[in-house]
Amino acid sequence: MTSGPISTPSASVNWKTDMGRVIVVGAGAGGMMAAGRAAERGAKVLLIEKTDGPGKKLLISGKGRCNLTNARELDGFISMFGPNGRFLHGVFHRWFREELLALLGRYGVETKVERGGRIFPASDDAADVVNALRRYLADQGVDLKTEVRVTGIALRDGRVAGIRTEAGLLPAGAVILATGGATWPATGSSGDGYPMVAALGHTVTKLRPALVPLVVAEIERAKSMQGVSLRNVRLTAFRLPAERIDPALTPAKDCGRGIDTKRRRGLVIESRMGEMLFTHFGIGGPITLLMSLSVVDALAEGPVSVSIDLKPALTAEELRIRLQRDFDQFGKRGFRSLLAGLLPHKMIEPFVAMTGIPPERPGHQIAAGERERLLSLLKSLRFNITGPLPLSSAIVTAGGVSLKEVDPRTMASQIVDGLFFCGEVLDLDADTGGYNLQAAFSTGYVAGEEAASFVQDFAEKS
Ligand SMILES: Cc1cc2nc3c(=O)[nH]c(=O)nc-3n(C[C@H](O)[C@H](O)[C@H](O)COP(=O)(O)OP(=O)(O)OC[C@H]3O[C@@H](n4cnc5c(N)ncnc54)[C@H](O)[C@@H]3O)c2cc1C
Repeated sequence: MTSGPISTPSASVNWKTDMGRVIVVGAGAGGMMAAGRAAERGAKVLLIEKTDGPGKKLLISGKGRCNLTNARELDGFISMFGPNGRFLHGVFHRWFREELLALLGRYGVETKVERGGRIFPASDDAADVVNALRRYLADQGVDLKTEVRVTGIALRDGRVAGIRTEAGLLPAGAVILATGGATWPATGSSGDGYPMVAALGHTVTKLRPALVPLVVAEIERAKSMQGVSLRNVRLTAFRLPAERIDPALTPAKDCGRGIDTKRRRGLVIESRMGEMLFTHFGIGGPITLLMSLSVVDALAEGPVSVSIDLKPALTAEELRIRLQRDFDQFGKRGFRSLLAGLLPHKMIEPFVAMTGIPPERPGHQIAAGERERLLSLLKSLRFNITGPLPLSSAIVTAGGVSLKEVDPRTMASQIVDGLFFCGEVLDLDADTGGYNLQAAFSTGYVAGEEAASFVQDFAEKS
């Protein structure tokens, strides 16, 4: 692997000889895999990256630990991508988790499986994954050029002829677009690929933030509980304003992407039990992120609110009995001190304010109606959702190059000959758990292999 800034001026282009080359745009997970595999299949490969090094997003993935993939069986794995997951069947049958782990293993990356089937490098260090991929590129003789921004894809006679950069035109017989999504632009993924392919006639489906915290209308209330992390709560999103939620509709089991086989159409959008947190603008944490794309999509159609069941292990009746028992048993204690047994410290004052019960009122003087107010807040603490945080702060971009225009067997464009895609630039996104990286690696592998065959076929014919 060679690396450094590019110096080829457009005047020195030799269209004929350079048409045997594959150019990969973007050295993220997908692009590195694509470049390595194309070179392994015998193609001359140039990998172009606009930042000063490859794998910037990989390095921060999984909080720096890189959740590479997931141990889930194939059908369950694919269901994590929602309806578009179907596109990945052929790709995953061809090159999946075992092949990825074997490749990384060859470069010394041992892995381990954690809760929820999440697979990480045993070292807990994403840099080991990036270094392994760098060595793979070097072994295959990939030419890596950094700090070069690609500005467009050049065509000749209706087929790919190279790429345009700020330094000039670079010819190639095939181009693999691996520019990623539009989230965390500091990593280099700032959505550059979308206008490039839209200019060639490709459809880019609406970009939306996925795996993103949500902003609430009741900001002051959320702020008052900022930093509180809740475990084992049930978060349910409704297609309704908060005041119209009927807590009886809260499902007893999780539902949503990766669990349901069909898209939900009723009042309940998704419901998940797990960990969430309050922030200065609303709600975040694992279950919020998992539900966020469905919420974002539902918001486009009407009001959305969420209800948090803080005591999901108890039915409303069981909780009613417990409250009555506790308030009788510790009847001399004030309301504020009774709440300490029910809620994290930082939620006590907000609950005093929300219930309107005087904080010093002794338990035995709290009326049944007041207990009911507390009960309904514990079983259904509600917020109206105003929107997600911006796309730039989401983990993944939903939407992208329409899958209808990409051959699922080869990752080739069905509009422009010689153009291939891989990774997040495609209209593919999944929940957290290692699914997105596996998709980038697998689509990269297939795109690399197919682009290499494409230029070789072309060379044989001409
Ligand atoms: C904070 C965070 C944590 C994450 N953690 C995980 C995780 O643990 N597990 C998981 O499965 N997924 C995770 N993801 C998602 C995952 O990282 C992405 O889905 C994946 O990296 C996409 O790979 P990609 O190769 O398509 O794009 P990227 O990795 O984004 O790479 C695209 C590359 O293209 C380059 N590029 C863009 N435009 C140009 C241009 N014009 N010219 C030249 N180069 C260009 C960029 O600089 C970048 O290097 C995380 C995402 C974030 C933001």
